[in-house]
Amino acid sequence: AKEFGRNSVKSYDETYGQDLIRRTQTLQNLRAALSRKEFSLNYQPQIDAFTGQIVGTEALLRWQNRNGEWIPPDQFIPLAEQAGLIGPIGQWVLEQAIRTQRKWLDAGISPMRMAVNISAVQLADPELPAHIKDYLNNSGLDPRYLEIEVTETAIMSEPAIALETLGQLKEMGVDISIDDFGTGTTSMSQLKSIPAQKLKIDRSFIASALTDARDAAITKSIIQLGNAFNMKVIAEGVELKEQEIFLQKEGCHILQGYYYAKPMPEDQMLVFLQEYSSE
Ligand code: C2E
Ligand code: CA
Ligand code: CA
Ligand code: CA
Repeated sequence: AKEFGRNSVKSYDETYGQDLIRRTQTLQNLRAALSRKEFSLNYQPQIDAFTGQIVGTEALLRWQNRNGEWIPPDQFIPLAEQAGLIGPIGQWVLEQAIRTQRKWLDAGISPMRMAVNISAVQLADPELPAHIKDYLNNSGLDPRYLEIEVTETAIMSEPAIALETLGQLKEMGVDISIDDFGTGTTSMSQLKSIPAQKLKIDRSFIASALTDARDAAITKSIIQLGNAFNMKVIAEGVELKEQEIFLQKEGCHILQGYYYAKPMPEDQMLVFLQEYSSE
């Protein structure tokens, strides 16, 4: 039949070859993206599960290449890490997020947390705390309004340096949140040694918590674990009222997801914050 013809089914080599070409092109474009100012940040609100107030936002990196295509971060961040480009990109993200926070404060928004994602490579850089200190000083922001989101995998890739870096950030007053929690391989005794104040339940558990008893059980145990460790627990990927109700009932502290708002550009987020706080 025609569907099985040569044109519709590609050989392994062909697919692999095309994938390689695409990755090579993406990488070339990525090298120039920072100087061409093709990156931007979107912000997504984080909601206090009990009061309904916005307590923070997460900064999420966006890239529109010179052809006008939006490349998802899941695609280009791993490439940037492999190519050694994540250092300058990650610094740009931190600086930009802190600058935005300053602008919102100056616009009269009450102070709230800014959560920034940090990659494994950044975490393995002993200079990271000094850089962050500089950015905070430059914009006169209180470190306690900055939060770093790191995955278990990122911490465990260079645990000795990572724990040292995280310890310094904690001493500066920066909050640390363990992202995608539950998907990594951190043991309980390792978790004990990470100086984090927050656990962020991975989206995959929230997505099936209402339909799969096992995902519901995992979600509940992460909340209990967080409470036992004196940590705040945040759920990401909340899309439905029913998920909100479930998470509130289980005692999850902070909620984030499309149900409240999708990630949006800085200016739009400012309007959202102004309208939300005047409700
Ligand atoms: P993440 O840190 O786990 O971020 C959460 C992702 O879930 C974001 O995808 C966000 O847009 C999406 N999301 C939020 N609410 C919902 C929801 O209700 N439903 C669904 N289906 N999705 C939701 P995004 O922005 O595409 O980012 C993907 C990943 O890329 C992030 O996952 C993070 O690992 C990475 N990333 C994004 N920005 C940065 C950055 O500045 N630095 C680093 N190192 N990584 C970043
Ligand atoms: Ca995150
Ligand atoms: Ca996450
Ligand atoms: Ca993720």
